[in-house]
This record gives sequence, C-alpha cells and structure tokens, in this order.
Amino acid sequence: MASIDIQAVRKNFGNFPVLRGIDLTIQDGEFIVLVGPSGCGKSTLLRMIAGLEEVSDGEIRIAGKRVNSLAPKDRDIAMVFQSYALYPHMNVAGNMSYSLKLRKTPKEKIASAVRDAAAKLGLDPFLERRPKALSGGQRQRVAMGRAIVRQPKAFLFDEPLSNLDARLREQMRAEIKQLHRSVSATSIYVTHDQIEAMTLADRIVAMHGGVVQQVGAPLELYDRPANLFVAGFIGSPGMNFIAGHYSAAGDHAEFRLADGTAIPLRPRGGIENGAAATLGIRPEHVGLTTEGPWEASIDLIEPTGFGIILHLDFRGQKLKVFTLDRDVLNARGSVRMALPASYLHLFNAEGSRVD
Ligand code: ATP
Repeated sequence: MASIDIQAVRKNFGNFPVLRGIDLTIQDGEFIVLVGPSGCGKSTLLRMIAGLEEVSDGEIRIAGKRVNSLAPKDRDIAMVFQSYALYPHMNVAGNMSYSLKLRKTPKEKIASAVRDAAAKLGLDPFLERRPKALSGGQRQRVAMGRAIVRQPKAFLFDEPLSNLDARLREQMRAEIKQLHRSVSATSIYVTHDQIEAMTLADRIVAMHGGVVQQVGAPLELYDRPANLFVAGFIGSPGMNFIAGHYSAAGDHAEFRLADGTAIPLRPRGGIENGAAATLGIRPEHVGLTTEGPWEASIDLIEPTGFGIILHLDFRGQKLKVFTLDRDVLNARGSVRMALPASYLHLFNAEGSRVD
C-alpha cells in the first residue's frame, strides 16, 4: 500500500481548465471520497492518478515516486468502475486471476490469491460461473475481487455502485467498508451519493469550480462547512440559507432580515457590524415547538416514512425542516419554530464561514 501525493495538479481540455490546481496528500491506507457537482472533474482527477489521462501541469507521486509519465500498467493501481468491465468469456475465477496470469505469477500463488479474495467477497459458490449468470451485485464483487488479488498500491473507485438498486447499494456499501477494514488499502472513491461519502470516507474532498473547497472528516464538513458551497452540497435535504445582515452590539448579536426580523446569534469575530451575510441552518436543527418564537406558514408536507419534511415560508424565505415527530401531520396552516443559536452557521458576503 502507498501514500498518494497530488501537487498543484492542473488539467485543461483544449482551452478549458477543468482542474485549476489540486493539492492533496492521501495517507497510506486512507479512504478518501471525492464529491462535487457533475462535471467538477472528479473522474478526471481519478483518471489522472490511474494514468488514463495526462496531467497538464503539476505532479502526482505514488509511494513517493513521480508517476506523471508512467503508463497505467506500471503504476500498480487497481480501478473499479460502475460498468464492471468483466471479460464475458471467462468465468469468475478466470476474471479474477487474469492480471496475475499476465504477470506470470506462479499457479499456486494465483490459486491462493483467488481463494482468499473469493472468501472475503463471498464468491466461492460462483467461481465457475460466467459474468452473464451473475447478478449486478455479484458482478460488482467480482470486479472488486479482480482488484484485490493484485494487491495493488491503491484502489480507485469510480461510482462503483451507481448501477445497483437502492437495497443492494446499501449492502455493498457496508461490504466495501468491511473490506477496507480487512485490507486497509489506500482508496479513492468517487460518488454522487451523500450517504456513501459520509459513511465510507476517512476524509471527504469536496470539489467545485476546478478547485478543492474543503478536505476533512465527514462530520467536520457536515458540522463546520468552510463555505456556502460545502454547506449546501453536503447533507440532504440541504442546509437552509437566509439572506440578511449581521448586527452586533457588545455581547449580543443578531441576524437581521430585510423586514427587520432579528434572529439572536452568537457573536462572531471577523465580520463587521452591519455586513451583508447569509445565515445557515440544517433542516433537522430547526426546532418545531409551540413555544418557538417564530411563526412560519406551511407550503408542503412530505412524509418519507422515516420522518417528515416540511416546506415552510418564514417571512418570505423558504425553509425545509426535517422532523421525526408525526404530530406535525396534524398542523393546520402554520407552525411555531425555534432557530437555536448553537446550530446557526454564518457566512460572509464572499460565502466563507465566520466563527
Ligand atoms: P460526473 O459527476 O458527471 O461524472 P465529474 O466531476 O466526474 O462529473 P469529469 O468527468 O471529470 O467530471 O469531467 C469534468 C469536465 O471535463 C466536464 O465538463 C467534461 O465535459 C470535461 N471532459 C471530460 N473528459 C473530456 C475530454 N476527453 N475532452 C474534453 N472535455 C472533457
């Protein structure tokens, strides 16, 4: 296994800069998840690490060695795609052993590597089957088995579960996590799925506009998003944002809406009295309580089974609230709510977090 160093890496397609300078150090054995909106360059970054895409500028090092001009096959990295890319004419054992055969690995070694990987992945009963006789989840396991037998320096995953149905995704997600525990392999994983990112990652890398917006443990990004982009991107339903001004006097601070509504706030440093700002609060942090100081009208109620999402109108600002309390289903027209100061996020006019 190995660390991966990405230094000032840029990528242009023609004149279009997709990645504008990425710096990232991935520790040996770490599980990194790349997230960001469609087209932000996640797959491009992964493909550059694998050697499937050229680096326009900057440097990539694997285990300390510069790999910029090294062919994919010489990088000792395994990539797992959503499209599995299994050989249809070979059975499971053949698919899993193919890369070792190419390297002229001794037969006994191949057999034991395939046996170990099959046991880890629950593939023993299927070793003689062709891919077309397997379910999507089983094929995905074979694709992972093929990566594991090589004992590569690192695993790269490009949305490996996106072709599976929701239940299977959930199961495979847990299996990938357990697998990572047992092999402790350096892994970089691209996904659109919030829960995959939160549950699998040691650290999440949030990308947008060709740059890294924030790198940190999942709960760090969730609880202390560095800017409006990360705050809005991580979490589902997303964080609520309210536009207004920061107002402070002595030990007291408020967030003022255009209509004069003043929401009490913990005083912040690094922001001027009267500055334009954005207030953020997550849907599950809005308190629905009859003693709440604010009234909001109900636009829509969405029961999800697990909980309930309320769409509210608070003085012209649209808010989503998530609650487990089914009593809100009986609410007529409006609710009372609290916006607890300890859960309020504040962002300055540039969109950066203010603490
Ligand atoms: P998604 O989440 O939709 O998979 P992504 O973040 O992985 O997106 P990339 O696939 O890395 O994004 O693509 C980043 C940008 O680069 C996109 O605008 C894409 O159209 C562009 N792009 C990717 N490959 C090429 C190419 N070979 N030639 C020109 N443009 C490309």
